Amino acid sequence: MTDTRRALPSIGVLVEQPGLRALAERVPRALVTEALRALIAGARGGATLPDNDQAWVRAVEAHVAARTTPSLRTALNATGVVLHTNLGRAPLAPAALEAMAEVARSASTLEYDVARGARGSRHLHCSALLAELTGAEDALVVNNCAAALVLALHTFAAGRETIVSRGELVEIGGSFRVPDIMSTSGTTLVEVGTTNRTHADDYRRALSPRTGAIVKVHRSNFALEGFVAEASVRELVPIAADAGVPLLHDFGSGLLGDLSPWGLTGEPTARDAVAAGATLVMMSGDKLLGGPQAGIMVGTRDAVALVRQHPLARALRVDKLTLAALEATLALYRDPERARRAIPALAMLTASADSIRGRAEALVVAVRSARGDSEQGLRIADLRVEPSEATVGGGAFPTARIASWAITIGGDAKAIETRLRTGAVPIIARIEAGRVRLDLRSIDPADDAALLSLLLPVFA
Ligand SMILES: *Cc1c(COP(=O)(O)O)cnc(C)c1O
Repeated sequence: MTDTRRALPSIGVLVEQPGLRALAERVPRALVTEALRALIAGARGGATLPDNDQAWVRAVEAHVAARTTPSLRTALNATGVVLHTNLGRAPLAPAALEAMAEVARSASTLEYDVARGARGSRHLHCSALLAELTGAEDALVVNNCAAALVLALHTFAAGRETIVSRGELVEIGGSFRVPDIMSTSGTTLVEVGTTNRTHADDYRRALSPRTGAIVKVHRSNFALEGFVAEASVRELVPIAADAGVPLLHDFGSGLLGDLSPWGLTGEPTARDAVAAGATLVMMSGDKLLGGPQAGIMVGTRDAVALVRQHPLARALRVDKLTLAALEATLALYRDPERARRAIPALAMLTASADSIRGRAEALVVAVRSARGDSEQGLRIADLRVEPSEATVGGGAFPTARIASWAITIGGDAKAIETRLRTGAVPIIARIEAGRVRLDLRSIDPADDAALLSLLLPVFA
C-alpha cells in the first residue's frame, strides 16, 4: 500500500514532461491537470499508469477529448424515421440557416419598427406570412405546440371548463400528454364520448355556462380503426359558435403543402385546417413544416389578439434565431416546388426510392473499393443494399410506410451498432433480423460523404 503510493508520480512533475507541456499549450491547462488527477486516482484504485511521456500524452488526450466533446452535437439519422423527435426533428433549409446566422451576428429589428422609428413587436415577424400561407386572419409564434395549447387554454378557459373527447386524451411523444397539458392550464377538463366514439351531440350536451373552450386534438401519431366515430372540426364549429366559446384545434403536424403526389395522403394541410373554421389552429414548426422548433397559432384576428396580450405570451415567446429560421422557411413555401426541394424534411420524404437505392449502392461500392474486398473477407462481403420502409415520424402520417433502401451490415449486430453510435459523429441505426440497418431516406444526400468517412474505419 505505502509502496504503491510512493510510486505514484506527482502532477507537478508530470506536467513538466515535454509531451504534456506541449499538450498544455494546445488545450486548457486545467483540463490537463484534471486528467492527470483522474489517472492518478485511477491508479490508486488499481489501474495501471502510462509508462512513458507519449503514453501519458495519449491518455490525457483521450480524457480531454471526452470532456470537451459538446453534449449537443450533430448525428446521422439512419433510423428511417425522417422527423425523429429524439434526433432533433426537422433539419433546417440552407436559407433558414443563413437567416439565423445573419440575425445572430448583429443587431436586428427584433422589436423595432423601422418605419416609425419606435419600439415594435417581435410577435409580428412571421404573422403576415403565416396568414398568407394558411388563409388565417392572423398568427402568433410561441415556443412549441405544447406551449401554444397552454397559452390558448389560459387565455380562453382558465377557471372555466374545457370540453374534449375521451378519444383525444392521448400521449403524443414522451412528454406530451394532452390531459396533463390541459389540466396544468388552469382549466377543468370535461371529457365527452368514449375512447372509440364521440359524436357532436356529446359536445353539445356537455356545454354549460362554465364552458370556456372546446378542444379538438388531431390524432397525429396513431390510427383508430373499426367501430369508431369522431366529430369533425366542421361539425364542432356551429356548436362552439352557438355557445359563444372558441374552438381550439391542436393540429400538430404543420403540413403546409400537399404531399399526396408522393403517396402521403390523408393528412389535412394547415390551410384545410384553417378553412374548417376553428377559432385557433395550433401546430409545430419542426415537424412537417420543416422549420425550427416553434408553436404556431393561426386563427381569427380577435382570438390571436387575445392570446398575444396574455402575460404568458411573454413567457412562451420565441427568440430571434427561431423567428429568423421560421420566416426564411415559410418564405420558401411561396413556391411549393421550391419548398419541396429546399426544405430537407420534404426533400427526404419525397425523394424517389430509386435515388435512395443509388446512394446506398454507391456507398457500398465506395467502402468495398476503399477497403479491398479480398483482404477484408467476410466483413466487407456482408455489406448489402436491401429494401426498407421509412416512416414520417413526428406524429404525422402515422400509418404511412415509405418505400426506401438501407445499407445492412451482418456480423455482431450489437457491437457494430454500438460502434456506429459512439463514434466521432454518432450514426443512429436500427437492428432488424440480426443485421444493422442504415436507412438512407432520413439522411440528407449532402451527408453521404460524411457517412462514408465514418463507415470506413468500422471496416478497417
Ligand atoms: C407533436 C404534437 C404536439 C406537440 O408539439 P410540440 O411542438 O412538440 O410541443 C401537440 N399536439 C399534436 C397533435 C402533435 O402532433
